[in-house]
Amino acid sequence: MKPGIKDLTRAELEDALVRLGEKPVHAAAAFSALYREGAGSFAGLSGVPARLRRRLAECFSLAPAAAPEVFVSAADGTRKLLFSFEGGAPAESVVLPGKGRLSACISSQSGCACGCSFCATGAMGLVRDLRPSEIVAQYEACRREAGSPLSSLVFMGMGEPFLNWENLRKAVLILSDDAGHGFPQSRMTVSTVGVVPVIRELAGSPLKLRLAVSLVAADEKLRARLVPMEARWPLREVLAAARGYCAARRAQVFFEYIVFDGVNDSAEDAARLAGLIKDIPCRLNLIPHNPPGGPGAGVTRAVKAFQKAMIASGVRTYLRLEKGPDISAACGQLAARGRR
Ligand code: SF4
Repeated sequence: MKPGIKDLTRAELEDALVRLGEKPVHAAAAFSALYREGAGSFAGLSGVPARLRRRLAECFSLAPAAAPEVFVSAADGTRKLLFSFEGGAPAESVVLPGKGRLSACISSQSGCACGCSFCATGAMGLVRDLRPSEIVAQYEACRREAGSPLSSLVFMGMGEPFLNWENLRKAVLILSDDAGHGFPQSRMTVSTVGVVPVIRELAGSPLKLRLAVSLVAADEKLRARLVPMEARWPLREVLAAARGYCAARRAQVFFEYIVFDGVNDSAEDAARLAGLIKDIPCRLNLIPHNPPGGPGAGVTRAVKAFQKAMIASGVRTYLRLEKGPDISAACGQLAARGRR
């Protein structure tokens, strides 16, 4: 099987051209045709000499544009895109309208091996890692669906992005390449449940990505019940890595805290969480849990009290409300439904 040309970063394409005895400078024209003009065939690579187009067609494949199923929320205009990539691997993206802005949430894996107890994607298990081209294809489809430029991207859909880091890193380079889509890395956020070695790597990397860490619980025993990866990278190590990231980048980290009614929403939980994160430059997003198959408890009195306690402790804390409740917009819910 021929490698996909859209799985290559521009530097990799330049190397491939050199190996073919061609000038690497043609990679920029190929990128521009593939990403800015949306060329769907090698013959359509305008700006690339005809002889080289034929050689590229001999050496590489070029998949047609992805055609996801689209579900639109009547409640708030959220659009959910359900892809079926090669081999029937499902993946989901979501276009989220906000006040004067549009963001897209993109998957890095089909399914997920992490098995978080509250997550529909986790219940599916890992189908496979998505390739760089499949991650980029989600951005392209979201942008088409949105009908206007996207303000920000979050890698927070299906999968643990840092367990498919090599492919995600390439997708980020492709998406942000000035010869192609030119989407700024500083407007991309990658969300992890705590793959410590990659958080450390990101801290020292030239990539400008923003980091979000999903905490889920402030108590390690409770967290271990909800997030099996706690056994491999305990919360204290995750927080130490996040602190290191902030220091190295002079940046803040986004902490995500899914609030489970009656599980991790007590005053003691809030105090414990504040103690852990109040001296880390951060912003905390509280996300009331949206369980598969039904509406969650929403913004309860306990959630409001939790937010108030965090703010009183000096932590910038926001409520992130559920979007698209009528289209199963939470991570993995549509794909999991399709596989039952
Ligand atoms: S919450 Fe994220 S890491 Fe955990 S199972 Fe779901 S997709 Fe995987």
